[in-house]
Amino acid sequence: MKALAVDIGGTHANCGLVENDSILAYESIDIASATGVRATLSRIADVFLKLIKKHSLSPDQFHGIAVGFPGLVDSRIGRVVSTNKKYDDAPEVDFGAWSREDLGLPLRIENDARMALLGESYAGAARGFLDVVMITLGTGIGGVAMIEGRLLRGKHAQAGCLGGHIPVLFNGRPCTCGGIGCAEAEASGWSLPGIVKDFPEASASSLSKYSHVGFKELFEEAARGDKAALAIRDRCLNIWAADAVALIHAYDPEIIVIGGGVMESAQVIIPYIEAHVHKYAWTPWGKVQIRRAELGNNAALVGAIPLLSEKT
Ligand SMILES: [Zn+2]
Repeated sequence: MKALAVDIGGTHANCGLVENDSILAYESIDIASATGVRATLSRIADVFLKLIKKHSLSPDQFHGIAVGFPGLVDSRIGRVVSTNKKYDDAPEVDFGAWSREDLGLPLRIENDARMALLGESYAGAARGFLDVVMITLGTGIGGVAMIEGRLLRGKHAQAGCLGGHIPVLFNGRPCTCGGIGCAEAEASGWSLPGIVKDFPEASASSLSKYSHVGFKELFEEAARGDKAALAIRDRCLNIWAADAVALIHAYDPEIIVIGGGVMESAQVIIPYIEAHVHKYAWTPWGKVQIRRAELGNNAALVGAIPLLSEKT
Protein backbone atom coordinates (compact mmCIF):
# COMPACT_ATOMS: atom_id res chain seq x y z
CA MET A 1 0.00 0.00 0.00
CA LYS A 2 1.33 3.41 -0.98
CA ALA A 3 0.43 6.85 0.36
CA LEU A 4 1.51 10.46 0.16
CA ALA A 5 2.44 11.89 3.53
CA VAL A 6 3.23 15.41 4.65
CA ASP A 7 4.28 16.55 8.09
CA ILE A 8 3.70 20.31 8.39
CA GLY A 9 5.99 21.79 11.02
CA GLY A 10 6.80 25.31 12.19
CA THR A 11 9.53 25.90 9.63
CA HIS A 12 9.39 22.97 7.18
CA ALA A 13 6.87 20.74 5.47
CA ASN A 14 8.32 17.25 5.09
CA CYS A 15 6.78 15.47 2.10
CA GLY A 16 7.20 11.75 1.51
CA LEU A 17 6.07 8.97 -0.77
CA VAL A 18 5.40 6.10 1.60
CA GLU A 19 4.97 2.39 0.95
CA ASN A 20 3.92 0.48 4.07
CA ASP A 21 6.63 1.33 6.64
CA SER A 22 9.19 2.58 4.10
CA ILE A 23 9.72 6.08 2.77
CA LEU A 24 10.34 5.74 -0.97
CA ALA A 25 11.17 9.40 -1.59
CA TYR A 26 11.36 12.53 0.48
CA GLU A 27 11.65 16.28 0.15
CA SER A 28 11.55 19.01 2.76
CA ILE A 29 10.12 22.44 1.86
CA ASP A 30 11.17 25.57 3.74
CA ILE A 31 7.96 27.28 4.86
CA ALA A 32 9.43 29.39 7.67
CA SER A 33 8.23 32.61 6.06
CA ALA A 34 4.75 31.30 5.16
CA THR A 35 2.03 33.38 6.76
CA GLY A 36 -0.71 30.81 6.25
CA VAL A 37 -1.11 27.16 5.39
CA ARG A 38 -3.30 27.81 2.34
CA ALA A 39 -0.38 29.29 0.41
CA THR A 40 1.83 26.29 1.15
CA LEU A 41 -0.61 23.64 -0.12
CA SER A 42 0.04 24.27 -3.81
CA ARG A 43 3.79 24.04 -3.16
CA ILE A 44 3.25 20.73 -1.34
CA ALA A 45 1.16 19.39 -4.25
CA ASP A 46 3.89 20.44 -6.71
CA VAL A 47 6.53 18.56 -4.70
CA PHE A 48 4.37 15.43 -4.58
CA LEU A 49 3.74 15.51 -8.33
CA LYS A 50 7.46 16.01 -8.96
CA LEU A 51 8.45 13.10 -6.66
CA ILE A 52 5.77 10.84 -8.18
CA LYS A 53 7.01 11.56 -11.71
CA LYS A 54 10.67 11.22 -10.76
CA HIS A 55 9.99 7.70 -9.47
CA SER A 56 7.96 6.71 -12.56
CA LEU A 57 4.76 6.38 -10.55
CA SER A 58 1.32 7.93 -11.02
CA PRO A 59 -1.03 9.48 -8.43
CA ASP A 60 -3.63 6.72 -8.86
CA GLN A 61 -1.15 4.21 -7.43
CA PHE A 62 -1.50 5.96 -4.07
CA HIS A 63 -4.19 5.12 -1.56
CA GLY A 64 -4.52 8.71 -0.35
CA ILE A 65 -2.71 11.55 1.36
CA ALA A 66 -2.12 11.86 5.09
CA VAL A 67 -1.38 15.29 6.55
CA GLY A 68 0.15 15.87 9.97
CA PHE A 69 -0.67 19.34 11.28
CA PRO A 70 0.68 21.16 14.39
CA GLY A 71 -2.61 22.11 16.03
CA LEU A 72 -5.92 20.69 17.18
CA VAL A 73 -7.35 18.61 14.35
CA ASP A 74 -10.65 16.77 14.05
CA SER A 75 -9.68 13.97 11.70
CA ARG A 76 -13.27 12.73 11.56
CA ILE A 77 -14.38 15.81 9.64
CA GLY A 78 -10.99 16.56 8.07
CA ARG A 79 -10.66 20.02 9.58
CA VAL A 80 -8.20 21.93 11.75
CA VAL A 81 -10.09 23.05 14.86
CA SER A 82 -7.59 25.41 16.47
CA THR A 83 -4.03 26.65 15.96
CA ASN A 84 -1.43 28.08 18.28
CA LYS A 85 -0.06 31.27 16.66
CA LYS A 86 1.03 29.64 13.37
CA TYR A 87 -1.18 28.97 10.33
CA ASP A 88 -4.18 30.80 11.76
CA ASP A 89 -5.99 30.43 8.41
CA ALA A 90 -6.04 26.62 8.77
CA PRO A 91 -9.53 26.27 10.35
CA GLU A 92 -10.97 27.90 7.20
CA VAL A 93 -9.09 25.63 4.79
CA ASP A 94 -10.87 22.67 3.14
CA PHE A 95 -7.91 20.27 2.97
CA GLY A 96 -10.02 17.49 1.41
CA ALA A 97 -11.05 19.73 -1.50
CA TRP A 98 -7.39 20.67 -2.06
CA SER A 99 -6.24 17.03 -2.27
CA ARG A 100 -9.09 16.04 -4.59
CA GLU A 101 -8.51 19.00 -6.90
CA ASP A 102 -4.70 19.09 -6.95
CA LEU A 103 -3.86 15.40 -6.57
CA GLY A 104 -7.09 13.50 -7.20
CA LEU A 105 -6.74 11.64 -3.92
CA PRO A 106 -8.73 11.29 -0.69
CA LEU A 107 -7.17 12.92 2.38
CA ARG A 108 -6.94 12.40 6.08
CA ILE A 109 -5.54 15.09 8.35
CA GLU A 110 -4.49 14.54 11.95
CA ASN A 111 -2.56 16.26 14.71
CA ASP A 112 1.16 15.80 13.93
CA ALA A 113 2.03 14.22 17.28
CA ARG A 114 -0.80 11.72 16.92
CA MET A 115 0.54 10.78 13.49
CA ALA A 116 4.02 10.31 14.98
CA LEU A 117 2.54 7.98 17.60
CA LEU A 118 0.82 6.00 14.85
CA GLY A 119 4.22 5.72 13.12
CA GLU A 120 6.07 4.57 16.24
CA SER A 121 3.26 2.11 16.95
CA TYR A 122 3.27 0.77 13.38
CA ALA A 123 6.99 0.43 12.81
CA GLY A 124 8.99 1.95 15.67
CA ALA A 125 9.58 1.85 19.41
CA ALA A 126 5.94 1.04 20.30
CA ARG A 127 5.46 -1.78 17.79
CA GLY A 128 3.43 -4.56 19.41
CA PHE A 129 1.96 -2.36 22.13
CA LEU A 130 -1.71 -1.34 22.22
CA ASP A 131 -1.58 1.15 25.08
CA VAL A 132 1.00 3.84 24.43
CA VAL A 133 1.80 7.42 25.39
CA MET A 134 4.24 9.37 23.25
CA ILE A 135 5.95 12.51 24.49
CA THR A 136 7.81 14.72 22.02
CA LEU A 137 10.31 17.11 23.57
CA GLY A 138 11.25 19.92 21.22
CA THR A 139 10.26 23.52 20.56
CA GLY A 140 7.01 22.58 22.28
CA ILE A 141 5.99 19.38 24.04
CA GLY A 142 3.68 16.89 22.38
CA GLY A 143 1.91 14.34 24.51
CA VAL A 144 -0.47 11.90 22.82
CA ALA A 145 -2.18 8.67 23.79
CA MET A 146 -3.31 5.40 22.24
CA ILE A 147 -5.64 3.20 24.24
CA GLU A 148 -6.51 -0.39 23.28
CA GLY A 149 -4.86 0.14 19.87
CA ARG A 150 -6.78 3.27 18.92
CA LEU A 151 -5.76 6.90 19.07
CA LEU A 152 -7.59 8.72 21.84
CA ARG A 153 -9.57 11.61 20.33
CA GLY A 154 -12.56 12.48 22.50
CA LYS A 155 -15.72 14.49 21.96
CA HIS A 156 -14.01 17.64 20.67
CA ALA A 157 -11.00 15.87 19.08
CA GLN A 158 -8.63 17.20 21.71
CA ALA A 159 -8.40 14.23 24.09
CA GLY A 160 -4.96 12.81 24.58
CA CYS A 161 -3.06 15.33 22.48
CA LEU A 162 -2.47 18.11 24.99
CA GLY A 163 0.13 16.29 27.08
CA GLY A 164 2.46 19.28 26.86
CA HIS A 165 -0.22 21.45 28.44
CA ILE A 166 -0.63 19.40 31.62
CA PRO A 167 -0.08 21.94 34.43
CA VAL A 168 2.93 20.88 36.47
CA LEU A 169 3.12 24.09 38.56
CA PHE A 170 -0.12 25.77 39.64
CA ASN A 171 1.65 29.14 39.98
CA GLY A 172 4.10 28.67 37.14
CA ARG A 173 5.03 30.51 33.96
CA PRO A 174 2.43 31.71 31.43
CA CYS A 175 1.94 29.38 28.47
CA THR A 176 1.11 30.16 24.85
CA CYS A 177 -2.13 28.18 25.27
CA GLY A 178 -3.42 30.69 27.83
CA GLY A 179 -2.73 28.43 30.80
CA ILE A 180 -0.06 28.71 33.48
CA GLY A 181 2.56 26.23 34.61
CA CYS A 182 2.07 23.87 31.64
CA ALA A 183 4.92 21.39 31.14
CA GLU A 184 5.64 23.21 27.88
CA ALA A 185 5.85 26.60 29.60
CA GLU A 186 8.26 25.16 32.19
CA ALA A 187 10.63 23.09 30.03
CA SER A 188 10.50 23.36 26.25
CA GLY A 189 12.57 24.90 23.48
CA TRP A 190 10.48 28.06 23.29
CA SER A 191 10.33 28.61 27.06
CA LEU A 192 13.96 27.72 27.87
CA PRO A 193 15.53 31.12 27.03
CA GLY A 194 13.13 32.87 29.44
CA ILE A 195 13.77 30.25 32.13
CA VAL A 196 17.54 30.76 31.77
CA LYS A 197 17.15 34.56 31.81
CA ASP A 198 15.16 34.39 35.06
CA PHE A 199 17.51 31.92 36.78
CA PRO A 200 19.50 33.91 39.36
CA GLU A 201 22.97 32.42 38.77
CA ALA A 202 22.71 32.02 34.97
CA SER A 203 24.14 35.45 34.12
CA ALA A 204 27.40 34.56 35.90
CA SER A 205 27.60 31.06 34.45
CA SER A 206 28.95 29.63 31.19
CA LEU A 207 25.42 29.88 29.78
CA SER A 208 25.87 33.66 29.52
CA LYS A 209 28.19 33.27 26.51
CA TYR A 210 25.30 32.11 24.30
CA SER A 211 22.94 34.57 22.64
CA HIS A 212 20.33 31.79 22.56
CA VAL A 213 20.35 28.84 24.96
CA GLY A 214 18.79 25.71 23.52
CA PHE A 215 18.74 22.24 25.07
CA LYS A 216 21.94 21.33 23.18
CA GLU A 217 23.86 24.14 24.89
CA LEU A 218 22.17 23.45 28.25
CA PHE A 219 23.04 19.74 28.25
CA GLU A 220 26.60 20.42 27.04
CA GLU A 221 27.28 22.98 29.76
CA ALA A 222 25.67 20.74 32.39
CA ALA A 223 27.93 17.86 31.27
CA ARG A 224 30.94 20.20 31.78
CA GLY A 225 29.76 20.75 35.35
CA ASP A 226 28.37 24.30 35.11
CA LYS A 227 26.27 24.69 38.25
CA ALA A 228 23.50 26.85 36.77
CA ALA A 229 23.23 24.60 33.69
CA LEU A 230 23.03 21.54 35.93
CA ALA A 231 20.30 23.09 38.07
CA ILE A 232 18.22 24.19 35.06
CA ARG A 233 18.75 20.84 33.29
CA ASP A 234 17.66 18.91 36.38
CA ARG A 235 14.63 21.15 36.75
CA CYS A 236 13.65 20.36 33.14
CA LEU A 237 14.15 16.63 33.76
CA ASN A 238 11.84 16.86 36.77
CA ILE A 239 9.20 18.76 34.77
CA TRP A 240 9.27 16.11 32.02
CA ALA A 241 9.17 13.31 34.59
CA ALA A 242 6.19 14.91 36.36
CA ASP A 243 4.44 15.22 32.99
CA ALA A 244 5.14 11.53 32.33
CA VAL A 245 3.62 10.49 35.67
CA ALA A 246 0.53 12.63 34.98
CA LEU A 247 0.11 11.02 31.55
CA ILE A 248 0.50 7.52 33.04
CA HIS A 249 -2.18 8.28 35.62
CA ALA A 250 -4.46 9.67 32.89
CA TYR A 251 -4.03 7.04 30.18
CA ASP A 252 -2.73 3.80 31.76
CA PRO A 253 -0.09 2.99 29.10
CA GLU A 254 2.27 -0.02 29.04
CA ILE A 255 4.97 2.09 27.45
CA ILE A 256 5.98 5.73 27.05
CA VAL A 257 7.92 6.57 23.90
CA ILE A 258 9.91 9.79 24.08
CA GLY A 259 11.05 11.60 20.94
CA GLY A 260 12.00 15.06 19.74
CA GLY A 261 15.23 16.93 19.13
CA VAL A 262 16.16 16.93 22.82
CA MET A 263 16.64 13.15 22.61
CA GLU A 264 20.18 13.71 21.40
CA SER A 265 20.68 13.65 25.17
CA ALA A 266 18.62 10.45 25.57
CA GLN A 267 21.38 8.84 27.63
CA VAL A 268 20.60 11.38 30.38
CA ILE A 269 16.86 11.81 29.85
CA ILE A 270 15.60 8.22 29.52
CA PRO A 271 17.19 6.82 32.73
CA TYR A 272 16.12 9.89 34.71
CA ILE A 273 12.47 9.74 33.63
CA GLU A 274 12.45 5.95 34.03
CA ALA A 275 13.71 6.13 37.62
CA HIS A 276 11.25 8.91 38.49
CA VAL A 277 8.29 7.11 36.92
CA HIS A 278 9.13 3.79 38.53
CA LYS A 279 9.33 5.52 41.90
CA TYR A 280 6.32 7.84 41.72
CA ALA A 281 3.70 6.47 39.26
CA TRP A 282 0.91 4.43 40.83
CA THR A 283 1.02 1.30 38.67
CA PRO A 284 0.37 -1.74 40.91
CA TRP A 285 0.35 -4.04 37.84
CA GLY A 286 4.07 -3.42 37.14
CA LYS A 287 6.40 -0.84 35.59
CA VAL A 288 5.75 1.35 32.56
CA GLN A 289 8.52 0.95 29.98
CA ILE A 290 10.26 4.16 28.95
CA ARG A 291 11.81 4.01 25.46
CA ARG A 292 13.41 6.40 23.04
CA ALA A 293 11.49 6.95 19.78
CA GLU A 294 13.09 5.12 16.85
CA LEU A 295 11.82 6.90 13.76
CA GLY A 296 13.00 10.45 14.43
CA ASN A 297 11.60 13.05 12.04
CA ASN A 298 10.07 10.28 9.89
CA ALA A 299 7.62 9.11 12.56
CA ALA A 300 4.65 11.18 11.32
CA LEU A 301 5.28 10.16 7.70
CA VAL A 302 5.38 6.48 8.69
CA GLY A 303 2.05 7.08 10.46
CA ALA A 304 0.40 7.75 7.08
CA ILE A 305 -0.51 4.14 6.27
CA PRO A 306 -2.07 3.35 9.68
CA LEU A 307 -3.97 6.67 9.57
CA LEU A 308 -5.36 5.99 6.10
CA SER A 309 -6.16 2.39 7.11
CA GLU A 310 -8.10 3.39 10.22
CA LYS A 311 -11.75 2.35 10.33
CA THR A 312 -13.71 5.59 10.61
ZN1 LIG B 1 -0.12 25.36 27.83
